[in-house]
Amino acid sequence: MNVIEVRGLRKSYASLEAVRGINLSITKGEIFSLLGPNGAGKTTTVEILEGFRTRDAGEVKVLGFDPATQGRASREWRNRIGIVLQSTSDAGDLTVSETISHFSGYYSNPRNPEEVIAAVGLEDKSKDLIRNLSGGQRRRLDVALGIIGNPELLFLDEPTTGFDPEARRAFWSLIDGLRNDGTTIVLTTHYLDEAEALADRVAVINHGQIIEVSTPTQLGGRSTSKALVQWRDNGELKSQETENPTALVSTLTTQFSGEIPELSVTRPSLEDIYLKMIGRADE
Ligand code: ATP
Repeated sequence: MNVIEVRGLRKSYASLEAVRGINLSITKGEIFSLLGPNGAGKTTTVEILEGFRTRDAGEVKVLGFDPATQGRASREWRNRIGIVLQSTSDAGDLTVSETISHFSGYYSNPRNPEEVIAAVGLEDKSKDLIRNLSGGQRRRLDVALGIIGNPELLFLDEPTTGFDPEARRAFWSLIDGLRNDGTTIVLTTHYLDEAEALADRVAVINHGQIIEVSTPTQLGGRSTSKALVQWRDNGELKSQETENPTALVSTLTTQFSGEIPELSVTRPSLEDIYLKMIGRADE
């Protein structure tokens, strides 16, 4: 079953065509990541799916409903969706714990507030006022508010901006846990390693159009791209691109008796492939 179905989506702001005919099918339980440079049309697309923006053309179904007609009206539909917007929530004079408990009251089947606080790593801060949290801690609170309603579908717009590396890893395991519970997740991120770690599929968007939809390992022909083998020989760093790194390493093994100095075999990262795709699209 497709949780999200989009056909021919278009949206302009005055003369600027921000979204130019996007098609998407996102299935239940998958983590789908939208990648693209600033201004590519990701937020516009996602906010149309969330029912926060109107569209000019195209068909959109989210959990079986058209957000343009159901979005604001249907509380039941909204109950099934969790949203972490790009900007952080407004600070109030409430504590972390009070805020999360308060928001849990809006949902028919919320998660346990204490469990959610622990899941985003804010146990030590649960009695602190929101305005006293650091930027990264505020972002964790945003994530907590996105998942408190126990959503079937979760939208995450650049969720880990401002997180330290440890918090990002903790967040990734939280998202993995939600995936295991069957939550469908739409993730917008500028961190390619995050997309690589989490996404089942990624879509690269540029200038309002999708360039490619693929798995992170296959995007842009990545899985069949050449490997770079590097080693040191007589003090000189050598490198060679090859489709058969095993054969090259095997040759080097006979050449060097014992360890091959500073040997490494690397393939293009998702970021390398992404930058190439975006660069090509801009030519
Ligand atoms: P980012 O990675 O910077 O968040 P994005 O891919 O989410 O970018 P959008 O926010 O969807 O991009 O913007 C797409 C284009 O539409 C941009 O050129 C932006 O300036 C323009 N745009 C977005 N919202 C509006 C608006 N409310 N009014 C006018 N133009 C807008």
